[in-house]
Amino acid sequence: MELYIHDNVTGKLAKFVPLIEDPNYQGPKKDYVWIYSCWPTVYNTATIGNLRTFQLSDLIKNVIKHIMGYPVKHVMNLTDVGHLVGDGDNGEDRMEKWSKREGISARDIAQRYTDEFMEHMSLLNNVDIDHYPKATDHIRQQIDMVKKLTKKWLTYVIAWDGIYFDTAKIDDYGKLLPAWHLEGLQSWARVEDHGKKNATDFALWKFSPTDETRQMEWIYDGSRSWELLTHDNRSTLTQEEQVTRGFPGWHIECSAMATEYLWTNFDIHTGGMDLKTTHHTNEICQSEHSVCCDSAHKEWVKYWIHGQFITVGWQKMGKSLGNAYTLTDLINKWIDPLDLRYFYFTAHYSNFQDFTWEAVGAARKTRQKLQKKLLGHEPAFQYKSRKELTVNVSTDAWKELLSSVENALSKDLNMPQVLATINKSLHQPNEEIYTIIDYLETFVLKCGLFDLQASDDEDIPQDIIDLAEARILAKKEKDYTRADALRDEITSAGYEIHDTADWYSIEKNNA
Ligand SMILES: [Zn+2]
Repeated sequence: MELYIHDNVTGKLAKFVPLIEDPNYQGPKKDYVWIYSCWPTVYNTATIGNLRTFQLSDLIKNVIKHIMGYPVKHVMNLTDVGHLVGDGDNGEDRMEKWSKREGISARDIAQRYTDEFMEHMSLLNNVDIDHYPKATDHIRQQIDMVKKLTKKWLTYVIAWDGIYFDTAKIDDYGKLLPAWHLEGLQSWARVEDHGKKNATDFALWKFSPTDETRQMEWIYDGSRSWELLTHDNRSTLTQEEQVTRGFPGWHIECSAMATEYLWTNFDIHTGGMDLKTTHHTNEICQSEHSVCCDSAHKEWVKYWIHGQFITVGWQKMGKSLGNAYTLTDLINKWIDPLDLRYFYFTAHYSNFQDFTWEAVGAARKTRQKLQKKLLGHEPAFQYKSRKELTVNVSTDAWKELLSSVENALSKDLNMPQVLATINKSLHQPNEEIYTIIDYLETFVLKCGLFDLQASDDEDIPQDIIDLAEARILAKKEKDYTRADALRDEITSAGYEIHDTADWYSIEKNNA
């Protein structure tokens, strides 16, 4: 299968040719297709908007690895320091702010939300990530990169503030952005009054305020560079160390960690659409001017792929707007995490997707219908790759279904089309169709389509299921009178309903 993806630099669909096969690539030899994904700052619970982006990176990886058959390594970073409120170069550090709010250390905040994020990722079947590097474990690499840029005269210092990248010194700033956007940034953006030379300049290293002791700050200059400041070494700081102690700018961490794990060039960098304008634009210029310009191949990343936002009522979703949902919110409303996974696939990753309870409920219904149709049809034949599947199943009906699914995947990962094709194929199913769906479910969908057990589905009539679902809805709307009335109706029809952690169960009342 060939894959065409939307190239954020040219704005067109481009054929995916990995560096391991690219005849024009002259950089260091690669043994894997490398994917780097920016993950959220772990100061708070990830929203379902954030999680959609990670599902996109999972989808890309699975298609390249399992359908196209390339060896893949996937790195996702952990931002546990230096991400300031407002995404700019000023303001409070989110980790320190939330640490004060929750009354535990910044490190404990990071751990708490890292654990929660990992759990949510695993509930959504977004797994198989090779490295999860933490920003705080890579301060040395970040400082080294800032020093490299400084040696090339690309930085300047704003006293009592930090070290900044001078974007006027390079001629290719902003290549992810269309010209009109870049001009807008340069002319409209306010040059902040703390002394930046150009509107697009950004902080590489922030000095700690002189009158402030931070929980996470490091020595920048001198022989003890990159040592974490602790109770013990704080009293022995030289004048120079005292002035330049601080913490990294947000963007430098990704450049430093990607360089550490993926080296100077790699295939794919993913993130949310909100990262494209500033974070990824800045990652490119600091990476290409500190590591890649010295190498035989200047292009740091070959493909940039961005996922679009989740909206609520077609309005921006945000914690500050009070309309941000988390996976926990959904689970509390009896939505299975894999219903959300299926819901994500019903929209193309580059389009906005509107979240409503009805929309996610509709995705849930479709997933359940699929589960029922697939009940008891898990193929006996087990295969480990696309190749084995080709060898073992080979009729025309099979070829037609597989090629229309792969055709949809190959055109910029068109998952709504894939789902439509699968649903249609089950109008006239046969064993080979079940095999292909199993293959897609195992490697790409991972929506639990074969998880329904015969005992879960003991011939409960559809009208009883409808009553049970209406009752869930009534409970969600806190209409307990109606919910109780519906329960009575179910009971008098001879069935018993039990609430479970994530939904409900019904059984025939044999008493
Ligand atoms: Zn990043």
